[in-house]
Amino acid sequence: MINEQTVEKPKPLKRGMLDNVLEQFNHAADVINLNPNVRKILSITNTEIIINFPVRMDNGDVEIFTGYRVQHNNALGPYKGGLRYHPTVDIDAARALAMWMTWKTSLAGLPYGGAKGGIQIDPSKYSKNELERITRRFTYALGENIGPEHDIPAPDVNTNAQTMAWIADTYMSTKSTSERSKNQHVVTGKPTGSGGLEGRDRATGYGVFLTIKFWAEKNNISLAGKKYIVQGFGNVGYWASHFLEIEGAKLVGVQDAFGSVQNKEGISTEDLFNYSISNNGSILGFPEAEPFDSKEFFSIDCDICIPAALGNQITKHNAHTVKATLIAEGANGPTDVEGEKILMERGITIIPDILCNSGGVIGSYFEWLQNRNGELWQMDEILEKLEKKLRTSFEKVVNYTEENKTDMRTAAFSIAIERIEKAYILRGIFP
Ligand code: GLU
Repeated sequence: MINEQTVEKPKPLKRGMLDNVLEQFNHAADVINLNPNVRKILSITNTEIIINFPVRMDNGDVEIFTGYRVQHNNALGPYKGGLRYHPTVDIDAARALAMWMTWKTSLAGLPYGGAKGGIQIDPSKYSKNELERITRRFTYALGENIGPEHDIPAPDVNTNAQTMAWIADTYMSTKSTSERSKNQHVVTGKPTGSGGLEGRDRATGYGVFLTIKFWAEKNNISLAGKKYIVQGFGNVGYWASHFLEIEGAKLVGVQDAFGSVQNKEGISTEDLFNYSISNNGSILGFPEAEPFDSKEFFSIDCDICIPAALGNQITKHNAHTVKATLIAEGANGPTDVEGEKILMERGITIIPDILCNSGGVIGSYFEWLQNRNGELWQMDEILEKLEKKLRTSFEKVVNYTEENKTDMRTAAFSIAIERIEKAYILRGIFP
């Protein structure tokens, strides 16, 4: 018989996103001397849902899928956060991403907590009809674990307005006729025309661009002529690039799930986007750029680097090759703790994910308010409101870094955690 105590747990081969978010949290908690009881609460998630559910495929076979929803904390309001469809989705990824949402919504000053979830799936392997049945069945299985005043999903990696429309329709169909229309805000990121917000599609990428613009203004730097690279050419990467190009910055490298391309003379964002649409969503083969080794992507000569794909991309293995002087984290958790240490030693500035990509959830908040109040907002008023909210967060973070002689991530985490700490101290713990 094996004595449990003497058996060492196998060490995971790679640092996970959960290790990173916990380390980031504990570092900020130490800096602000967080109340120990609040630290205990925030170190762990409130609720974790794992659902295995069957779906009939187009060929008549039944396949079993695994879906997750992790609700980290709701001290400030209903749980909020996206659903991603990706093979890397598992319980630890959902935990980490849910925690980041809690800090993100708190920093943005929204009345929300944090959650995240998704399905462990490669959506490119399924037809649109299959994806619809998978989404609807997962929504049905989640049941009352989501809800417009309880937990509000949104798009994330490989999910979009169409996915949200299926979720809203399925959730609303489970309600009595008179209750149905009151439940439209169970998800945000819906198509415009079906309760969606004008401009929600660009909110995250526009926000990434704005935080870069605020940083440039603060440092008296002109973005015109600055070279930038983008990892991930989905919703976030494309829109961030679209707005940077308008400022006169030059896109010199792009990586997507299929490979990388570069052109020192500049790549047209619109031409590359149109090419990828006509090429099954892949940038490979774009005639106005050369293919580039994806493993070396971050070493492309540039001023600004926008990782806008998945987590753990800049690590101790490649941080020393980064050429940019500014990293704007469009993705959640793209820089791991070890990679970040190297970047900081090299004097590279990081606009942290919970600030940089918070335009998305701010847009979601506007959509939620719009639905809740039966209003329809106009694009120009939405983009103006988004800019105002993001500027407030950005200035708070920058002021904190100056007052406390710290980096932007520690500042952002500290502000976010202090707001939640205050809520707990004021309201106490039941019973
Ligand atoms: N998935 C986005 C994020 O990571 C948006 C979340 C939301 O709008 O709820 O911030």
